[in-house]
Amino acid sequence: MSGEDCDYLFKAVLVGDAAVGKSNLLWRIAGGEFRLDSKPTIGVEFAYRDVKVGGSLVKAQLWDTAGQERFRAITSSYYRGALGALLVYDITRQATFDSATKWLREMRQFGSGEMVIILVGNKSDLQHAREVPAEDGRRLAEQEGLCFMETSALTNSNVEDAFMAMVTRILEAT
Ligand code: GDP
Repeated sequence: MSGEDCDYLFKAVLVGDAAVGKSNLLWRIAGGEFRLDSKPTIGVEFAYRDVKVGGSLVKAQLWDTAGQERFRAITSSYYRGALGALLVYDITRQATFDSATKWLREMRQFGSGEMVIILVGNKSDLQHAREVPAEDGRRLAEQEGLCFMETSALTNSNVEDAFMAMVTRILEAT
């Protein structure tokens, strides 16, 4: 697909532990429905989403790991050229939040220094099962200079906001 019919075309990636909801977030952003099944081993590689910001037409090419994170096999090429990232953890699993700093290190090692990173605590609909206080997400984001949001791909809460926060920051930086 060419970028000739839009003002900006950029790549963004979804990063985070397995089963935190990356595929469903991507699916939502690209305009789809929530899927209850977990994704197949080989999933969608990327999806496009067009959005109008101010007077500009922006096309975001969003990459999903397609399950590579299960094998710790996310390669540097996954991050190459990405201007934005949604770093996702699951608010009901502390271990996925603890991993976020590991993912952050990797993104900073392999990605561009200017990558706009949004820290996303997903599954906010599961309040009864919460293990990670929102405050912890907020604090990590503050320490690392990231934007922070809690989302639910199930109820579609804040998903658009997280995506738009990334898009507007990328445009501000260009
Ligand atoms: P990925 O491995 O990070 O891509 O995660 P998936 O998108 O495949 O989701 C993993 C599991 O979590 C699936 O069973 C989803 O249905 C479920 N899931 C994803 N997002 C949410 C959410 O916001 N709320 C709830 N309750 N479940 C979710």
